[in-house]
Amino acid sequence: MAFPRMHLEPEHEMFRDSVRRYLKEELSGDVERWREQGHVDREAFRKFGEQGWLCLWAEEEYGGIGVRDIRYDQILQEESVRWTDIGFFHNAHSMLVGPYLDRFANPAQKARFLPGVVSGDVIMGIAMTEPDTGSDLAAIRTRAESKGDHWLLNGAKTYISNGIIGDLFVVAAKTGEGRGQIGLFVVTSDMEGFSRGRHLKKMGLPVQDTAELRFDNIRVPAENLLGDPGKGFAYMTECLAVERTMSAISSMAHAQTAFDLTLEFVKERRAFGRPIGAFQNTRFVMADLRTRLDAVQSYLDQCVMLANEDKLSPEDAASLKLLSSELQGDVVDAGVQMHGGAGFMDEYPISRMFRDARIARIYAGTSEIMKEIIGRGLGLGERELR
Ligand SMILES: Cc1cc2nc3c(=O)[nH]c(=O)nc-3n(C[C@H](O)[C@H](O)[C@H](O)COP(=O)(O)OP(=O)(O)OC[C@H]3O[C@@H](n4cnc5c(N)ncnc54)[C@H](O)[C@@H]3O)c2cc1C
Repeated sequence: MAFPRMHLEPEHEMFRDSVRRYLKEELSGDVERWREQGHVDREAFRKFGEQGWLCLWAEEEYGGIGVRDIRYDQILQEESVRWTDIGFFHNAHSMLVGPYLDRFANPAQKARFLPGVVSGDVIMGIAMTEPDTGSDLAAIRTRAESKGDHWLLNGAKTYISNGIIGDLFVVAAKTGEGRGQIGLFVVTSDMEGFSRGRHLKKMGLPVQDTAELRFDNIRVPAENLLGDPGKGFAYMTECLAVERTMSAISSMAHAQTAFDLTLEFVKERRAFGRPIGAFQNTRFVMADLRTRLDAVQSYLDQCVMLANEDKLSPEDAASLKLLSSELQGDVVDAGVQMHGGAGFMDEYPISRMFRDARIARIYAGTSEIMKEIIGRGLGLGERELR
């Protein structure tokens, strides 16, 4: 009984059918193994690449299909969350890191990097966060020194998604003394001086590999610099609106799935001679969640349309990310409660979803930072936050 998705056309629903069929038949059987090994198979990226589902936006000359309609990315993400796992970070590859190549790489860089990225042979990550700083990005300490034909890169990053299986990282590094003077560099795992640290153990998202990276005197060729060496901060601000939209898509797909599982459960499970769904408290909790899910989903779908036209403001993206991640938290929490003891058992998906959801209020910018961005957009305070 969800509210109609007014922004989708019949061709999007046809696409959804084929994605769903493929994921159920080809990938859903691998998820348990991915969880145990702590990362997806590289093959999963290649399979997505074979279907043409990585970096949909990439032009044909680079091996892509040139589709710039985020509704298709939204469907890929919604179906992946439902049929594989929220931790299969193909969306980070295509829509969090990909836009940096799309927007700031020159044609020669695109010709070098995009074909492997589109086929899934090369897996991407983005390395901004450091052991000493995350929210305050202008304070990063990783440094790139210009040496003419190359940059000398030194520093350390942490909490990097696809950090273990990734081959190509867009790395943020200081290029001068001014606060926020940052450049973005394409660093590949075969460069001398590149190393991976720990494969980090986490509260949730076991399928998504999160790792530390180190850069020791890496000679990054000058032609691996993206755009202007002093404008990385502005580039990140530009790309974070889409990143937050993608994060919201994940949150809402996760929340909708958790809601459906819980609804099914409360119709089946009985107490005091009737289904627990028949208690007024259960009805009210579920009605409240249904209403909020429909409202936020509609807002998200509108934001997707705005992002399609490159008109989504950082403030709207922050509102969307804040609302959707907080709602995801509320839905999984209520879902566990409605499941009773079963909600605490690993064998019930809601228990895993509860753990996986916690990070949504932290990564891609914390809820507090989202509120800061929205508040500053109202003219309250300075505007430096990303
Ligand atoms: C699973 C996972 C995957 C990740 N993937 C990536 C990735 O691929 N690439 C990457 O670069 N990073 C990644 N991150 C890092 C993530 O983006 C950061 O953890 C996040 O931005 C918060 O930064 P922090 O951890 O340094 O927290 P801090 O910045 O130290 O914040 C700690 C607390 O202080 C609060 N706080 C900070 N500043 C303010 C303020 N001005 N006002 C009010 N409160 C404030 C925060 O909201 C938070 O509650 C990932 C993290 C995780 C856990």
